[in-house]
Amino acid sequence: MVTQTVTQEIYAPIPEGAKPIPPVPPPDKWDYDVDVLIVGSGIGGLMAAMGAIEEGIYGNRIMIIEKADYVGGESRHAWFACPAGGKSWSKAFGKPWDEDAKKRIFDLTMQLNNYKLDPKLLWKFIEWSANGIDKLEELGVKIQFIELPPSPPTITSYTPYAAMALALREKDYSKYPGTIGHCGIYTTAAEKFLKENNVTTLLETPAMNLVMDNGVVVGVRAKTREGKIIHIKAKRVILSTGGFNYNLDMCKYYGGLPALQGSTLCPPTKTGDGIRMSQGVGADISDMHNIEGAEGGIDGLQFGCLTQSLQQAAVSLARTPSLMVNKFAERFCNEDAMYGIVVLHLARQPDGLAFTIFDSTMIHKEEIMEKFKTTVCEAPDPSPYVWLDEDHVVPVEQHPPIIYNHPELGFYEPYEDSLKRNIEEGKIIVANTIEELAEKLGLDSQKLKKTIEEYNEICRTKKDPFGKRPELLHPIEVPPFYAVKHKLMTWDTPGG
Ligand SMILES: Cc1cc2nc3c(=O)[nH]c(=O)nc-3n(C[C@H](O)[C@H](O)[C@H](O)COP(=O)(O)OP(=O)(O)OC[C@H]3O[C@@H](n4cnc5c(N)ncnc54)[C@H](O)[C@@H]3O)c2cc1C
Repeated sequence: MVTQTVTQEIYAPIPEGAKPIPPVPPPDKWDYDVDVLIVGSGIGGLMAAMGAIEEGIYGNRIMIIEKADYVGGESRHAWFACPAGGKSWSKAFGKPWDEDAKKRIFDLTMQLNNYKLDPKLLWKFIEWSANGIDKLEELGVKIQFIELPPSPPTITSYTPYAAMALALREKDYSKYPGTIGHCGIYTTAAEKFLKENNVTTLLETPAMNLVMDNGVVVGVRAKTREGKIIHIKAKRVILSTGGFNYNLDMCKYYGGLPALQGSTLCPPTKTGDGIRMSQGVGADISDMHNIEGAEGGIDGLQFGCLTQSLQQAAVSLARTPSLMVNKFAERFCNEDAMYGIVVLHLARQPDGLAFTIFDSTMIHKEEIMEKFKTTVCEAPDPSPYVWLDEDHVVPVEQHPPIIYNHPELGFYEPYEDSLKRNIEEGKIIVANTIEELAEKLGLDSQKLKKTIEEYNEICRTKKDPFGKRPELLHPIEVPPFYAVKHKLMTWDTPGG
């Protein structure tokens, strides 16, 4: 990791917004004095506060400061299937939460992430997640554990977790205002618990610098919502400010995948402040080039999470496993591969660009569900295998998708309306011939024609060199033709 930092310093000047944030000396007078100060109120920060209470620290000696005007960060919006275990996991599966169980989850998570995760950190995460899950259950969060088949060798759309924990959503959305994914249930439960235990939370109060005295971090300098600079003294400071998708300087400087994002589901407060502050006091960094995301990043669709970004027909179509080509009109991967894998292929394409192509027999909701065994972005997850309802998990074929874009959340648009709107807006391109489609997309028409002919032949023989499942191979032949231009859609940067 040191090597990475040194190399970057030699070859590229660090842009201003990516530079370490230097610490400041202690003030003459402190505004607050606490035992534990947590910067950032996502699930990481909230769990840290709960951990501090568990360690016996009184709630009124713990403080959280948060840059946004709400508690929960991105976590409040996340779907949040996570590898997890714990007491109820054992009960649910009748198996001990032992080294074998942990190892299975470890292997599958590594596989999903193309072996790019820090193994020691992942192991710790799996061990500790069990405590977190147990704690949330003690708070009354009902959690569904799902055991899924391990992914086959050519990783396809199976969700490759040995077990996932999902908070069960309740029908009454008003209980979780502003939440969309399941994780909002975790953050709401944690927020309530911390309030009951007198933990102070200051909203719209970004940390600006760490305060350092004789080489030791002794507090934080922050700015309140009224614009006042305050100094908070703390025996322990925990930085839990999430990733840096909204810091373009960091995205560019650390290169790799984040620079290629077409859209991000992250809140705009995720600007890498904690990473830069900790670098300012000498911390090392790792995995900064890594990313979490999927295909389907349409330019101009930004934060708003599921309501504004995912729930667009253009995103649904971009992520549907029809034919996908790069800017040279070449196919480059199994479009049905797990999104973590598609992302890696997509990021390697020129300009990070992809075009997903359809004919007129496969763009409506029912057609997508039938032909591609998936669903559209009215619902949060396009996994064709499982769907969660209030009580159980069933294959999607047997269960209609839950509509998550609820009128109370301020944005509700059925897929077919969104399809019409996205076509009018030019986010979905329509053409009567392949030549016309190529011209509108800026692709070489002869090359695109050839790629489509070859793909149609693959659909007929049902033998795909990229390994797409035969039942998902549908030829592109009935005009009009449709296409969506997209890049990466990111939801986090795991480095730090
Ligand atoms: C739609 C969606 C679906 C997802 N689904 C999954 C999933 O199924 N499984 C999974 O594992 N992950 C999922 N993720 C990713 C997951 O949400 C994040 O990795 C996780 O929430 C990060 O938690 P965190 O506590 O580290 O950061 P965050 O939740 O982002 O919290 C960081 C907080 O720090 C605050 N902050 C930033 N700078 C400062 C500062 N200077 N001072 C004070 N506060 C600051 C931010 O405002 C924010 O509230 C999903 C994300 C999205 C958007």
